[in-house]
Amino acid sequence: MSGQKDGFQRWQVGDVRVTSIIEMETTVSCIPENGLIPSATPEGLRRHAWLYPHFVNQADELLFAIQALIVEAPGKTLVVDTCIGNDKNRAALGTMLATSFLQDIERAGFARDRIDAVICTHLHFDHIGWNTMLVEGRWVPTFPQARYLFGRLEYDHWTAHGDEHDRVHFADSVLPVVEAGLVDLVEMDHCICDEIRLVPTPGHTPGHVSVMIESRGQRAVITGDMAHHPCQMAEPDWYTPFDFDPEAAASTRRTTFEQWAREEMLVIGTHFAAPTVGRIRHEGQAFRLDPPVR
Ligand SMILES: [Zn+2]
Repeated sequence: MSGQKDGFQRWQVGDVRVTSIIEMETTVSCIPENGLIPSATPEGLRRHAWLYPHFVNQADELLFAIQALIVEAPGKTLVVDTCIGNDKNRAALGTMLATSFLQDIERAGFARDRIDAVICTHLHFDHIGWNTMLVEGRWVPTFPQARYLFGRLEYDHWTAHGDEHDRVHFADSVLPVVEAGLVDLVEMDHCICDEIRLVPTPGHTPGHVSVMIESRGQRAVITGDMAHHPCQMAEPDWYTPFDFDPEAAASTRRTTFEQWAREEMLVIGTHFAAPTVGRIRHEGQAFRLDPPVR
């Protein structure tokens, strides 16, 4: 089901192949309190032994990845979420990135001008960065032949209600592709092709979507940020301060995890550290993620 011959994690879902291109891996300490999931204290995490060692290390630090997921369906190649990007002023990071992301995509076998579509699960800065790249002082579309699919509700929300940081993110990562005529504003249940469609998972942001893949009786879903970390399967009420509506986000997690557990879905976590994927199972009052056995 998965392979890592050339250093890239890949998963086969019927006729569809998904490849992870990692931009960054990071750990978040829980001591005294982590800023990303404040309820995830060492004591809270240790109640869920299955999180160790893949998703929480022995120092009780949460492991995260920032990655783009390339989805190859018959006749169509898509990128789901485009990470942070190079050369971008991001107050939240305090530093500009200069990673080898573009070379890594090529090395994984994907020429930028062969990408047919870009999907952003939502419009936070760590999901839109490589929509554009800096060329001779200008932000230009990284994937010049792609249609960029943004949720209409999501786009309208940030256009109307974004703060000064959001406006900076939009100016360098959203507006240049709009101005290049490459954007389609789509509904939250938009169907991209026979194998790939969007499903609404609102809460983290108003128009947040996940990406459903179905082919030859196999199913997988790319979460986006409806969950940032597998600990939110054990504790669906653990919110992040970046959730637009924390109660809606928790409610989405409960109902959606319930459904995905029933449907034997392969869950591909956008911010989940390797092994990144697993089947979701009931555990006590909530859920757990079982990574595939290698
Ligand atoms: Zn994110």
